[in-house]
Amino acid sequence: MAGPQANPGAPTADTLAPRSRVASYAAAALFVALATAGTYLLQPLLAGRLVGVLFFAAVGAAALYGGRGPGFLAAGLGVVLLDYLFIPPAYSLNLTDVPDLLALALFGGVAVWLSAVGASLQERRRGAEAERDRASALAEELQAQAVELEQQTEEARALAEELEESASAARASEARATAVVESALDCIIMMDHEGRVIEFNPAAERTFGYPRAQAIGRPLAELIVPPSLREAHRRGLQRYLATGEGPVMGRRIEITGMRADGTEFPVELAITQIALPGPPVFTGYLRDLSERKRAEEALALLAEGSRVLAASLDVEATLAAVARLAIAGLADGCLVTVVEKGEQGAPFRHAPVASRDPEKAALVEEINRRFPLPADAPSGYPSVIRTGRPEVVDPRAFDESVLPGIAQSEEHLRLLRRLEMYSAMVVPLTARGQTLGAITLVRHGPGRRALFDAADLALAEELGRRAALAVDNARAYEAAKAARDEAEAASRAKSEFMAVMSHELRTPLNAIIGYTALLAEGVGGPLTEAQQNHLARVRASAQHLLELIDQVLSLSRLDAGREEVRLAPVDAGAVARDSAALIEPSAVEKGLRFEVDVPAGACVVRSDATKIRQALLNLLSNAVKYTEHGTVALEMRAEPGRIVYRVRDTGIGIEPEQQDRIFDSFYQVDQGPTRRAGGTGLGLSVTRRLARLLGGDVAVESEVGRGSAFTVWLPRADRVAPGG
Ligand code: ADP
Repeated sequence: MAGPQANPGAPTADTLAPRSRVASYAAAALFVALATAGTYLLQPLLAGRLVGVLFFAAVGAAALYGGRGPGFLAAGLGVVLLDYLFIPPAYSLNLTDVPDLLALALFGGVAVWLSAVGASLQERRRGAEAERDRASALAEELQAQAVELEQQTEEARALAEELEESASAARASEARATAVVESALDCIIMMDHEGRVIEFNPAAERTFGYPRAQAIGRPLAELIVPPSLREAHRRGLQRYLATGEGPVMGRRIEITGMRADGTEFPVELAITQIALPGPPVFTGYLRDLSERKRAEEALALLAEGSRVLAASLDVEATLAAVARLAIAGLADGCLVTVVEKGEQGAPFRHAPVASRDPEKAALVEEINRRFPLPADAPSGYPSVIRTGRPEVVDPRAFDESVLPGIAQSEEHLRLLRRLEMYSAMVVPLTARGQTLGAITLVRHGPGRRALFDAADLALAEELGRRAALAVDNARAYEAAKAARDEAEAASRAKSEFMAVMSHELRTPLNAIIGYTALLAEGVGGPLTEAQQNHLARVRASAQHLLELIDQVLSLSRLDAGREEVRLAPVDAGAVARDSAALIEPSAVEKGLRFEVDVPAGACVVRSDATKIRQALLNLLSNAVKYTEHGTVALEMRAEPGRIVYRVRDTGIGIEPEQQDRIFDSFYQVDQGPTRRAGGTGLGLSVTRRLARLLGGDVAVESEVGRGSAFTVWLPRADRVAPGG
């Protein structure tokens, strides 16, 4: 900005341009010329000394117009012209008259003074003008500056507004970013290129256990990286800074973190570099995986538990497996107790103690042996077994009430204290609404995971349920096995009895039958008809008895699963014909027609001929037995894959509701007090078991009063059922 002194444009008398100075002198000359002309014209009017009056006016005008110089010029010219033209002698510069000389001198002096005054007046005017010009220039300049200033102010205000807007946008965005960081569930930790923490959000505070203020500025490595991984962390950062490459950048990885208390835990980590000018800044997003890992471990433990427990059908092995599982995933020590009379009448029995510390296991064994807890102990496994509800004990309760409460003597208390139980929980072993026992789990603390929490309790309870089920199953299995063993022993005894009986009964029966035959043939002398009749009855009864014994023996062998199938090529038609031949006489004797319809030629199957024959004989003898008139028929058909025997009669028939039951052992249809046919109720039962043993089966169709048809089918190949 220009100052007033520095304004070179203001015109003054001394600094007038040459041309304007020339003009001033020319004007002076002109004014003098005009005064001369005027004086000429007015000479007659201007008397005496007044002749110079117009020249004064010219000097004044020249001085006023052009300043001192032109004023002096006009004065000089006036003196000369007055002398030359108007003071006598005319047209001569000679002055003879003294008064004229004085008058001219006076004129000259006055003219000089006048021009000096005029000049000073002119200068002052000019000065004032210049001053005014300068002032107005200044004013203009000021005005311009004011306008400029106003513009600048306006601009500044706009700028300020803009700045304010962007600042508030930045503040809002920062607030949002901060809110995100603050409320993030994940830990957000920012680190500068030197590895120092520059941001540490609340989740990070919670997870790692450092307040933000303490974390900021510290090297990340020493804060949250376990000592064993620090070197790798440092090298990774350096390499990234040098090459821009790193294995963890922009990826999710699982690593181990460290808390303020030094405990290590699994974390999921993703690191990104923030695109900001200047040295790189990294943001790490970390998530504590402990809970997830724990849940996974719990699931794995339960899965493993189910597998191990399902595989074990032995109570002892089951209990041992439970204890092993518990210390693998849940506790430092485990005692499994079941409600069962232990040594010296103790109400409980313990499985072998499992512990990570063998000395403690031995100590527990000693305590259990020397100080068995009574069933009414106020806490611990007896109370859990009584109530069926779990118990969790924390460190303070242990020393204050639990241990003194169950200790039976000073020595007992001393031993319990030596166990150094920090926290414990006892969960029931409950299966089918019954508490079979309890699992006591102990942790020797202190430490971060030394206290059992709700998740641990839930896991232990689940383990308890599964274990109880396994124990229950194992017990049921053991009971079933004992029952089976007992039954097998009984069955063996029965079979032995049967074998003995068969021998002991058959021998005299055979003798009876043999001797009656001899008697009937008259070996002992001729017999009367009445005697013959008696002998025939004796023989028939003996035969019946023999059959009965055979059936009972068969059945007992089948029951015991001791009936063996001897597979061999069998001509199915021949077996049918043989059986028919054995029964035909009794049918004929009863006046029945006996028909056999078997295809000619051999029909060979792999089977057991004796068993087929026994089944057919049972069916045929029943047909004869339950038929009074008509026909008994045996037919055989070879079908694809099987052969079918059919025994038909026109006898009394069987009511529909009886048709299933006649195959049961010892079942006989009640035929009223006037029962006509004797029997054992075993024939059909034996027949069905034989048919099934040979891989086939038997079925009945019957109509009361019209007759029955029994069908036996057998496979042609050697598909034989295991057992009866
Ligand atoms: P049982 O020695 O009494 O004949 P089975 O087991 O052979 O014993 O037969 C069971 C019952 O089935 C018989 O008591 C009889 O009532 C009935 N039954 C068997 N076969 C016939 C048949 N062919 N006709 C009518 N009823 C029969």
